[in-house]
Amino acid sequence: MTAAPRTFRIAAIPADGVGKEVVAAGRAVLDALAETSKSSAAPFAFVWEEFPWGCEFYERTGKMMDDDGLEQLKGFDAIYFGAVGWPTVPDHVSLWGLRLKICQNFDQWANVRPVHFLPGVQSPLRKADDTELDWVVVRENSEGEYAGLGGRNLSARGHGGEVAVQSALFTEVGCERIMRFAFDLARTRAHKKVSSVTKSNAQQYGMVLWDDVFKRVAADYPDVETESVLVDAMSAKFVLKPEDLSVVVASNLNADILSDLGSALAGSLGLAASANLNPERRFPSMFEPVHGSAPDIAGQGLANPVGAVGSAALMLDHFGLPDQAARLNKAIEATTAAGILTRDVGGTATTDDVVKALIDALNA
Ligand code: ATP
Ligand code: MG
Repeated sequence: MTAAPRTFRIAAIPADGVGKEVVAAGRAVLDALAETSKSSAAPFAFVWEEFPWGCEFYERTGKMMDDDGLEQLKGFDAIYFGAVGWPTVPDHVSLWGLRLKICQNFDQWANVRPVHFLPGVQSPLRKADDTELDWVVVRENSEGEYAGLGGRNLSARGHGGEVAVQSALFTEVGCERIMRFAFDLARTRAHKKVSSVTKSNAQQYGMVLWDDVFKRVAADYPDVETESVLVDAMSAKFVLKPEDLSVVVASNLNADILSDLGSALAGSLGLAASANLNPERRFPSMFEPVHGSAPDIAGQGLANPVGAVGSAALMLDHFGLPDQAARLNKAIEATTAAGILTRDVGGTATTDDVVKALIDALNA
C-alpha cells in the first residue's frame, strides 16, 4: 500500500513576459517530479493555484494585484513567481505594486542567490573546465538602499532645480539577522567562509553599523572564516578570484548588483535561481528566477527555464525535501551537459526542448 502523498499548496504568479513561459516550465518539471514519487515510500504532490496579476492585469484594472491579494496568498506553502515588468507600465509601479509588496509584507528578509556553474555552459571567466566554482550571494531583502525612504521636489538651499533624496536604512536587528543567516548557511557548506560587502569607506553611517554588527556576529562563529570587502573590490574578486568565495553577504543594492554579475559569470542571467525567504515561516516564502521579464525575447519560446527550475529546487529545500532538490539539480546538470541549451547560452533549444530534457532526465 502506498502512503497518502504529502501535499504542498503553491501560489503561481507568472506575471509578465518570459515569467509566463518559465513558470509554466517549472510547473511541468515539478509535476513530473511529483509523478515519479507516486509509487515511492514518501510520495508528494503539488496543488497549484495560478494568479493573473502583473502588467496586463494593471492595464485592465489599474492595479498590479487584487486589493486583498496578500490575504489570498497567506495560506500557501510557497509562492512560485515569474518576473514582473513590461514597457507599458513604469518599472517602479510594477515592481512596488507586486513583487516588492509581497517581499515586504511577508517579511521575506533573506534573499538567497546561488552562483552555480553548470557543465556544458561556457563561462566568460577564464578558468579550467575542472575548476569548481560555487558560491551564494545572501542579500538583505528588507531595508538598506531599497527602503523607499526619501522624496522628490524637496526645497534645498542654494539649488535651482529639483532636488531628490534617496536614503538607505540600516538597523542593527536587520543587519544581525541577515548575518546570522549567512553564517548558519556557511556552516552547512564545505568552504566555511562569509565575505561581508559594504562601501563603508564612503558611506559612513549605515555601512559602518553593518561592519560593526558583522564583527560582533562573527565572534559567535569562530569556526567560520570571514573577510570584509568593499563592493568595488568584490566586483573585481568575482571575476579574478572567485574560488575564494563561499557565502557573500551584502545589503539590498550591493547584493542585487553582485548577484547579476555572478549569474552572468556563470553563463547567463537565465540560469540564476533565487529564494526570498521568511526564515521564521510566519508567511509564505517566494521562489523566482533572478532575471526579469525579458521583453526582447518574450513569447518566442526562447526563454531559458533553468533559473526558474533551479528556483523550484530551492523551494523543495524549503519544503524539507533536500533529496528531491538534489534530483532536480542533477537533472539540470544532465541537461546542460548533454548540450541541450537555449540561445542565451549558445544553443538552439527552445524552452519546451529543455523542459522535455529535464523531465526525461528525472525519469532516467
Ligand atoms: P529587471 O529589471 O526585471 O531585472 P532587466 O531589465 O534587468 O529586468 P531582464 O528582463 O532580466 O532585464 O533581461 C536582461 C537580458 O537578459 C535580456 O537581453 C534578456 O533577453 C536576457 N534574459 C533574461 N532572462 C532570460 C531567460 N530566462 N532566458 C534567456 N535570456 C534571458
Ligand atoms: Mg535586472
